[in-house]
Amino acid sequence: MADPHPSDRHGRPLGVLRLSLTARCNLACPYCLPDGQDPPGLLTLEQRRAVVAAAVALGARSLRLTGGEPLLHPDLEALIESVQPLRQGGLRELALTSNGLLLTAERARALRQAGLDRLTLSLDGTTGASVARMAGLADATAGTRALERVLAAIEHARAAGFDPAQGALKLNAVIQRGANADELLPLAGLARERGVELRLIEFMDVGNRNGWRPEAVLPAAEMVARIGERWPLEPLGRGRHGTASRWRYRDGGGVLATVASISAPFCGDCNRLRVTADGFAYTCLFAPPGSGLDLRPWLAPGCPAAALREAIASLWRQRADRASEERGEAPLPRPMPHVEMARLGG
Ligand code: SAM
Ligand code: SF4
Repeated sequence: MADPHPSDRHGRPLGVLRLSLTARCNLACPYCLPDGQDPPGLLTLEQRRAVVAAAVALGARSLRLTGGEPLLHPDLEALIESVQPLRQGGLRELALTSNGLLLTAERARALRQAGLDRLTLSLDGTTGASVARMAGLADATAGTRALERVLAAIEHARAAGFDPAQGALKLNAVIQRGANADELLPLAGLARERGVELRLIEFMDVGNRNGWRPEAVLPAAEMVARIGERWPLEPLGRGRHGTASRWRYRDGGGVLATVASISAPFCGDCNRLRVTADGFAYTCLFAPPGSGLDLRPWLAPGCPAAALREAIASLWRQRADRASEERGEAPLPRPMPHVEMARLGG
């Protein structure tokens, strides 16, 4: 019998499934620029559950629901509930990444009750002007409204039981040179005050629309140096298969993290499988368009679950991608085409 937990060609196991629920979003962050509408043939709730079950059977221990903006999806809570029985099969952690705009107190409670373990909210600035710039909003007034909603969402999430001290509530911020690098300290201050881990993400060359240039990347080491000058930090390292390198504030002010996909790629132990809202499986965030495996033939009525498992296992065994490391080894003369981030699931 084939190994139930496949490894890819670099010996990497499958550990995390990132499932995009929709490619649509209620924001238009210029570094992401999602599609205005979803592709045809979106998976049903039952098909999504089948994908999660297959991934868990193949070794995935963590499920992250994302998009696009996953809170736009009406079946979100139902999906979270429907995968709870898979905890017996090895699923350990259910997480969600959201821009938080739609996270009311009621929605936060519903997510918690449905069985969500962790929530990461995204916020790239602490002023109306910076939020507007980073989120693609019309002006500082709209930015202030969005900022207030995300700050309220943090408190709704905390009140619903997503405890930041247990790592169940975190903040993501994309930092882009020339756009919001001046927000580094204010964002760190805000996260410290609220006792939430801030994850600073390097601007990545995902998709084809965000005008990515190496010059616009503020390397994680520089982010840490700037924050460390104000609040000294000591390194905690990067966990195995993790994306984030973590630092502890020496004054006891909590933890800071960086996701240095550009300056310090972590392809070597990447264990993430991504499935789009319309059922295409990708094994790399930087995959070229059209390279995903359409899982829908194995999700058709009557197709046995074992066939879907084998399709995903075979994709995983053939996997050899290490795009971020390759970018660093031999920078390409011009950017390669990539699937858009919001479609792939960030
Ligand atoms: N809409 C949700 C949100 O913004 O949290 C979930 C989807 S979004 C694609 C997931 C994460 O990817 C967000 O934290 C976002 O900031 C990040 N992201 C999007 N485009 C990026 C880029 N070009 N470089 C780095 N991070 C990016
Ligand atoms: Fe929407 Fe998230 Fe992309 Fe911003 S990063 S446009 S919030 S999907």
